[in-house]
Amino acid sequence: MSEFFPQDPALLDAVVAWSRRRILEGQDPRATARPAAEILADLGPTITADGIGGHEALRRFVDVVVTSTRAQGDPLNLAYVPSAPTPASLVFDLAVSAAEIFAGTWEAGAGAIAAENQALAWLADLAGWPAGAGGAFVQGGTIGNLSALAAGRHAAATARGARPPGGWKIAATADAHSSVAVAARTMDAEILPVPGDERGRLTGDALEATVAGRDDVAAVVVTAGTTNAGIVDDIAGAAAVCARHGLWLHVDGAYGLAALAAPGARPLFAGIEQADSFVVDPHKWLFAPYDCCALVYREPARAAATHAQFAGYLEQIDRGEWNPSDYAIQLTRRPRGLPFWFSLATYGTAAYAAAVEKVLATTRELAAGIDAADHLELLFPPELSVVLFRRPGWSEDEMRAWSRRCARSGVILCVPTRWQGELVFRLCLVNPDTDAAAVLEALETMR
Ligand SMILES: *Cc1c(COP(=O)(O)O)cnc(C)c1O
Repeated sequence: MSEFFPQDPALLDAVVAWSRRRILEGQDPRATARPAAEILADLGPTITADGIGGHEALRRFVDVVVTSTRAQGDPLNLAYVPSAPTPASLVFDLAVSAAEIFAGTWEAGAGAIAAENQALAWLADLAGWPAGAGGAFVQGGTIGNLSALAAGRHAAATARGARPPGGWKIAATADAHSSVAVAARTMDAEILPVPGDERGRLTGDALEATVAGRDDVAAVVVTAGTTNAGIVDDIAGAAAVCARHGLWLHVDGAYGLAALAAPGARPLFAGIEQADSFVVDPHKWLFAPYDCCALVYREPARAAATHAQFAGYLEQIDRGEWNPSDYAIQLTRRPRGLPFWFSLATYGTAAYAAAVEKVLATTRELAAGIDAADHLELLFPPELSVVLFRRPGWSEDEMRAWSRRCARSGVILCVPTRWQGELVFRLCLVNPDTDAAAVLEALETMR
């Protein structure tokens, strides 16, 4: 190895030293995307026959790559769904890389998988699921949703026989995440639209009216915290319908299910104990680095019937042990749940509960401040940690211009969204360091 790729302890020290500084000092909120031509001009040719050397490559990473990527963990980044990884989770990601673990199968990754499963068990327990529940950490909610829905479709096909003449349907509202439509398309299924209530929420009655009399519904998706507005569907109502019709119930909680950790918010998710699968992204609101989605099944064997891979070269795998590749569309995988596990083990679950509660409290404070501001208009009180509001009198172009100006100066990242046809401002909080007063001060520039 060293003949081709020599060790360089000084390079190792430089990379670790940069990482250490970055974790301790945080990110520059002014870092932002630039046109590719500009970035490439600054980066210069890096892939060459002789290499440019690690120290030079690191310099270009620090000066060009990092400065052209958004600060996802900045407390005033409130766009899309930001992230807020803990210091322990960030530094442990380095250790996970150094350990070079193949965590697709038990025989290769046993220790890592055992630790990851402790973190999954914590989540399953918060959902009120039995000890037999389990799954795997996958890349993100997109792959998690697809994997769970594929398991639901397989269960439907097993119970009800061949593909229905018009293909399988996935019941969901228009406010389900965009990845649910992609999952349906990938599976050659179609979305069966369930009408939402006035805020887009799925209710048991609407679901019943949609699925009654059909035999082509493979699965139902409820969203536990819509990405756009933080609205939680009526999970208990949906669960009753699914039980009546024998339908797979998947809870997409990629963003919002983190609030299961907050005792005050737990009643919002009543009924989840009856679902068949759920996802939650620790890289969103559970303080883990990218990328990390927890995918959990109440009866994991039903998922293994869909996802387990078999081949001559896989014959020696111990099928009696926990093989994460059985539970999602993946074989090779890094133990991406370990930074989350390490952080939970480091700080304790009480710190998680308090941090999520803090974000919920900050959101309420922020919404109250917006409601009280005479130049702003709150759409409705937040259910989780998304706030939608108007700036009456501004055109769409004025809204976008304000958003871009603030992003450039690093004051605040607040990006408009479309809500029921109207462009409105949206704030999404996941960071316990976000200060409501600082956000309200930034919003003063909308006057
Ligand atoms: C973010 C999100 C997803 C997609 O998750 P990724 O990790 O981005 O793939 C799915 N569903 C909901 C509700 C989300 O908020």
